[in-house]
Amino acid sequence: MAFDFASFFGLKQAGPKEPKVLTVLTHKCPQNHRCPAVGVCPSGALTQKGVAAPKVDKRKCTDCGKCTRYCFPGALKMKRKEGV
Ligand code: SF4
Repeated sequence: MAFDFASFFGLKQAGPKEPKVLTVLTHKCPQNHRCPAVGVCPSGALTQKGVAAPKVDKRKCTDCGKCTRYCFPGALKMKRKEGV
């Protein structure tokens, strides 16, 4: 058995990444401001009508997760893909 350097120091090993998809949790969105995540999406996949929760165009979204870092109430989340 090979020595596992990472686990010896309590570090988490990087395994194959789980496929995740972007999910909009509308109940977490206060829906009272312009969504800062809409402007940072490199694919133009997020749109917002007025101050409503943003909508995701799944044909454009690459599930990169960048937008989740700009949603402070946590309404944009990457979730595990179902059935994978
Ligand atoms: S996950 Fe990436 S591609 Fe999809 S909406 Fe967010 S920033 Fe855009």
